[in-house]
Amino acid sequence: MQSGHLDAVIFDWGGTLTQWHDIDFHAESLALAQAVITTPSPDDDHHAYAERLHAAGDVIWGRSRDHQQSSTVADLFTEAGLDHDPELLAAYREFWEPHTGTDAQVAPLFEGLRALGLKVGVLSNTIWPRAWHEQFFRRDGVDHLVDGDVYTSEIPWTKPSPQAFAAAMDAVGTDDPSRCVYVGDRLFDDVWGAQNAGLRAIHIPHSAIPANQVGHTEGTPDAVVQELGEILDVVTRWHAG
Ligand SMILES: [Mg+2]
Repeated sequence: MQSGHLDAVIFDWGGTLTQWHDIDFHAESLALAQAVITTPSPDDDHHAYAERLHAAGDVIWGRSRDHQQSSTVADLFTEAGLDHDPELLAAYREFWEPHTGTDAQVAPLFEGLRALGLKVGVLSNTIWPRAWHEQFFRRDGVDHLVDGDVYTSEIPWTKPSPQAFAAAMDAVGTDDPSRCVYVGDRLFDDVWGAQNAGLRAIHIPHSAIPANQVGHTEGTPDAVVQELGEILDVVTRWHAG
C-alpha cells in the first residue's frame, strides 16, 4: 500500500450510500408475501402471510442486533414457517427499488479516495443476495469504483461484530484496523461497531433509526459529516496524519 496513515475507507450501504427513506414495513411484508408458494386453497391468506413475515423480520433483525447473527431472505421465510419461491420475489424487489439509488456524491467521492491511493470497501447488514447489491451499483455506474464488498447475507455475522469488519477489511486487502475508516448512519452498528473493532468512524446523522433497531451502545464518532462529499477532506487530513 501507499505511504500515509490509511489503507481503506469502508462504507455502510443503506442510509449512507443511499438516501435514508422511511419504509412502510406493512407494504413491504405484503410485497414479500407474494413470494409465498400457495396451494391455492381457501387457507391461502395473503394478509396472514404478510403478518407472519413482518413478525419474522422482527425476529431476524433482533437476532442481528442482539447476537450479530446474519440471515438471508430464505431464513426470513423459514422463520415465518412459509415456503417461498425466489423467482416470486419480483414484487418485493420492486417495492425496494426506489430506495436503492446511489447518492450522486458517491462516484466523485470514491474517485477521490482512490486517487489518494486508498481502497474503497462496502460492508452492509443485509438479507439480500450479493447479486442484487451488485446490480444496484452497476445500474448507478459505481461498481467499478468498489475494491471489495461484503454483504452479511454471505457471512455468519452482522455489524457490529468485529468479525464482520474483519471480513470487510479482508475484502479490500488490509488487516490493520487502525489504518481503516468506516462510514455509516448508525451509532451502534456502524460507529460503535467500527471503533470496537479498532477502526475510525465517520457518522452521517440523517437516518431515523427505528427504536427496535437501536443497540446497547452508541459510539461517539471520530467525525460527523452532513453529506458524503465532506468525507474526502476528513480522510485526506487523517491520511496525512
Ligand atoms: Mg445504514
